[in-house]
Amino acid sequence: MFVTLKDRTLQLRSPVTTAHGKTTHRQIIEITVQQDEFFGYGESAPLPGFGLETFKEAQTALAEWSENPHTLPTLPAALSGAATALDYLEQATSKICLPPGSIAVQALISATDIPSLEKQVTNAINDGYRAVKLKVAATDAMTDIKRIEIITKLIDTQILLRLDANGGWTRRQALDVLTNTDTGRVALVEEPTSDPSDWQEIHRETGIGIGADEQLTDQTQIDRLVDLGAAQTFVLKPSILGGPPATRRIASQAAQNDIDIIISSFLDGPMALRSARDLALELAPHEIHGLGTAPLFVEDLPSDVQPVNGYLQRL
Ligand SMILES: [Mg+2]
Repeated sequence: MFVTLKDRTLQLRSPVTTAHGKTTHRQIIEITVQQDEFFGYGESAPLPGFGLETFKEAQTALAEWSENPHTLPTLPAALSGAATALDYLEQATSKICLPPGSIAVQALISATDIPSLEKQVTNAINDGYRAVKLKVAATDAMTDIKRIEIITKLIDTQILLRLDANGGWTRRQALDVLTNTDTGRVALVEEPTSDPSDWQEIHRETGIGIGADEQLTDQTQIDRLVDLGAAQTFVLKPSILGGPPATRRIASQAAQNDIDIIISSFLDGPMALRSARDLALELAPHEIHGLGTAPLFVEDLPSDVQPVNGYLQRL
C-alpha cells in the first residue's frame, strides 16, 4: 500500500468566531492511499484551541505512518484522516458502491454584529435550510440574548434554532442567557459550559436539550457523559474522533443510551466533509447535520459537498 500526503490551505470568506477564538483559514493534509488500482482518500486538519495536535505534529505522525502503514497514527486528527482513507480504500477493494441519498444540514451563523447576523439568517432561510446554528458565548450576555431574539423573530417555528457556546459560559451565564430567551424556540445548546456536571441543571432549568461536542474526547470521558446523563445529543466530528470506525462505535453507544447524534464538520475540507456526509447517511439519515460548511470557504469545494436547498447530496 502506498500513502501520499499533500498540504493545502483553504481560506474562510470571513473569520469564524467561537469561544475558542477566531479562525481565518484551514491548513489541511490531504491523504491518498493506493493498493493496486484502488484508492482511498482522507484528510487531517488540526485546529488550534481545540485540544488537538499541532499541524506540524500531524504532519510528522502521518509521514511516519506513510513509511509504515500498518501502524496507525495515535494523534486524533492524524488518526482520523488515515482511518478515513483506509475506510474508503476498503470499500473500493470490496467493490462497495454507496447508494445515492441526501441529508439535511444546518446553516452556521457566527456574525456578532446585528446587520451581518440578520443577513446570514435571511440568506439561510432563503436557501432552504431547516436548522440554523448560532455561535454564542463569544460576546457578552446581553448581546447574545439580543442575537437569539432577532433570530427567533426572523425564522418561523418550522426552522430549528440551535446554539453552540463551545464551553464559553459559566453555569450562571448560561442560565442568565438561556432563561432570558424564548426557551421553547431553542432546540439544542451545545457545550453550554466547560463542565458537563453543570449540564443536567441547565437542561432541567431551561428544558433545552444539551449537546456534547468538544467533551467527547476519549472513551473515558464519553462513558462519564453517559453516566452523568449530561447530554441528550452527541455531536460527532469524525475528523477528530478517529474517523469512521470510532464514529460508528460512539454512535452505537449513544443509541444504546437514547442519546441522539448529529454528525458535524470541523470546518473540514472536501474529503473529510464527504466522509462525514457518508457517515451521516449511514448512522442518522433523518437528522439535520452540521455539514453545511463548504460555502464558508473562498475556494470552490466539489459540488457533492456543497449544500443545495439545505441538503448535501450523494449522487
Ligand atoms: Mg459544537
